[in-house]
Amino acid sequence: EMLARVDVLCLDKTGTITKGKPWVNEMNWFVPEESNIKSILYTMEKSSEHPLADAIVDFIKNGSEFLKDLTIHNVTGQGVVGVYDSKKYFIGNEALLHQNGMNLSDDEKQWLVDQVSLARTVVFFFDESRVFAGISISDQLKDSSKNAIALLHNLDISCVILTGDNEQVAKVVAKEVGINRVYGNVLPAEKSAFIEKLQQDGKVVAMVGDGVNDSAALAQADVSIAMGKGSDIAMEVATMTI
Ligand code: ADP
Ligand code: MG
Repeated sequence: EMLARVDVLCLDKTGTITKGKPWVNEMNWFVPEESNIKSILYTMEKSSEHPLADAIVDFIKNGSEFLKDLTIHNVTGQGVVGVYDSKKYFIGNEALLHQNGMNLSDDEKQWLVDQVSLARTVVFFFDESRVFAGISISDQLKDSSKNAIALLHNLDISCVILTGDNEQVAKVVAKEVGINRVYGNVLPAEKSAFIEKLQQDGKVVAMVGDGVNDSAALAQADVSIAMGKGSDIAMEVATMTI
C-alpha cells in the first residue's frame, strides 16, 4: 500500500544498483611489499563482511597467513580498523585516512585521481605513519538496473543514489543507469537524515539497500526494501526483502 504512494526512491549503489561482486584491478604498494604486512591486510578483510573486503581477500589469499591475534572493528561507511601487536592498522577511503591524521603524497594522490577517473573505487591500507598500499576495485552494474530505473521514472518516481563510495564513481554509475540526483561520500547517519528531510517536505520515501551502512536509512524510510544477499541487519530492519 505504501509502495504505491512513493514519491522518491533512495538507492544505495554497491550491492543494490551494482552486483556487489567487486574485483581488484590494482594493488599498488607504496612501500616494499612484505608478507607480514600483507597478512595483516588479509586478516582484516577476511574478518570484515563488506563486499569490497571479499574482493581484496580473493586477490591476496595466496601467500597470506590468517593472524588469529588480530582484532577489527568497522567504521561504518569508511572502512575497518585492526589492532595487531598493540599497533593500529586501517583499510578504507580518504575520509578514514584524513580522520587518522594521514595525508597522501603527490604520487599517491596522482594514482588516486587516475583510478577514480576510471570509475574505480579506491581504498587505502595504512597505519598511523605510513600508507602501505592503494587498492582500486571495480564492480559491474546489475543487468536489470537500467531498465528498472527507467520503469520507475515512467511511474513518476524520483530516484536518488546515496552512497558511501567516492562521489565521482557514484556519478559514473548514476549516468549509466539514468539517474541525475546522486550523492557520494555519504555516511550512514547522513543517508537517514537525507530521507528525514524529504519526509519533512511531505514526500513519501522508499529506501533500497543491502548494507550495514543502509540500516538507519532503511529504518527511517516510509517503506524499505533490502537485498536478500546483503547483510543480516539490513534484512532485519527493512519492510521487505527481495
Ligand atoms: P555503499 O554505500 O556504496 O554500499 P559503504 O558505505 O558500505 O558503501 O562503504 C563506503 C566506503 O567505505 C567504501 O567505498 C570503502 O571506501 C570503505 N569501506 C568500508 N568497508 C570497507 C572494507 N571492509 N574494506 C575497505 N574499504 C571499506
Ligand atoms: Mg551497499
